[in-house]
This record gives sequence, structure tokens and C-alpha cells, in this order.
Amino acid sequence: MASLKKCVEAKCKDCTYDQASPGSWRQQVEDCRVTSCPLWIVRPVTMETVNARRKDKNGGDAALNAVIDNLEDEEDEDVVAGN
Ligand code: SF4
Repeated sequence: MASLKKCVEAKCKDCTYDQASPGSWRQQVEDCRVTSCPLWIVRPVTMETVNARRKDKNGGDAALNAVIDNLEDEEDEDVVAGN
């Protein structure tokens, strides 16, 4: 069974990624501007953005930081797995 993270990744990638356009699928999904989409707040982002959020974790919204923390943990698993 696919994880929730993998389901969101697959949906966002299918929705936005265009191989003919510049940037990786994560960069293109991060650039998504459809803020009304229910997945927008948890859409995949690049590791550069994840690391920037880690540095800025002391500021901002606590609930959002909790969501980001959960995604970061799963993101780390992807890096180890080479995905
Ligand atoms: S967040 Fe953006 S890329 Fe992801 S499903 Fe929604 S509209 Fe598509």
C-alpha cells in the first residue's frame, strides 16, 4: 500500500509535471500557484526548500511546522532510498 506522501507526490506530479519544461518535477510542483488546491500546503518541494524551512522553523505557524516535520521525516527516507 502506498504511503500518503507517495499518493500526494503522484497526484502533484501527474497534475503539474511537464518534462518539456525547465526544472525537476519537484521544482515544478513547488512552483504550483493553485493555492485553492487542498494539497497545496503539503505539496512536495525541493530539498533546498526543506532545508531552508528547517533553519526557519522557530518562526511561522506551529501547525504548518508540524505538517512540515512529518513530511521532512518521510523526505529523508526518500533521500536514503535515492528516490
Ligand atoms: S498542489 Fe498544485 S500540483 Fe499539487 S495537485 Fe494541487 S494543483 Fe496540482
